[in-house]
Amino acid sequence: MTHILIVEDEVRITSFLEKGLQASGFTTTPASNSDDAVAIALDGSVDLMLLDLGIPGQDGLALLEVLRGQGFQAPVIILTARDDVQDKVTGFEVGADDYMTKPFRFEELLARIRVRLRTSLSSGEAASLTLTLGDLVLDLRTRRLMFEGQFLELSAREFTLIETFMRHPNQVLSRQQLLDLVWGYDYEPGSNVVDVYVGYLRKKLGNKVIQTVRGMGYRLAV
Ligand code: CA
Repeated sequence: MTHILIVEDEVRITSFLEKGLQASGFTTTPASNSDDAVAIALDGSVDLMLLDLGIPGQDGLALLEVLRGQGFQAPVIILTARDDVQDKVTGFEVGADDYMTKPFRFEELLARIRVRLRTSLSSGEAASLTLTLGDLVLDLRTRRLMFEGQFLELSAREFTLIETFMRHPNQVLSRQQLLDLVWGYDYEPGSNVVDVYVGYLRKKLGNKVIQTVRGMGYRLAV
């Protein structure tokens, strides 16, 4: 099993990440401060690390520098509320592989985790980085959708929405389920974004691919 170390001091975010990652087949270990993170990272079983920069003890960037200096080679994705270019530059300089600014959607983080892990995947697992359903082929690595043989340009949110539908074929998904799965905690209550984005996808895919189920939600019909 792929083992992900979650270095994060906010309990709410740690539990959100653990729940999602375990549901996606990963094992997880949380660390809420830099000392615990170092101990777990250096025990040799970690395949990927998610790293919050603002943690008790050593700052996340300093921690990463120490770990890289001690031979820690697993991919590292930085998670931070700081939307600061200098932090990103420093993060890459000290050995981060990717960077996500909070708040983020779980599905997008999952896609990035898969990209970072892909070099160590077998070919069978690599094939699972493509989702195919009827005329829809979704490449999770390049984040491109092919529909009826044509590549379509999708925004990040449209991509995650169609991915979510493709992972639940022929299932009716309510607006609330779609908000939870696609927007995570990053939406306004009472928001109509789901309807808006289904509208965007219909403009690209035609009206038949995503059906409205009156009073219940939406269903992918392919
Ligand atoms: Ca923090």
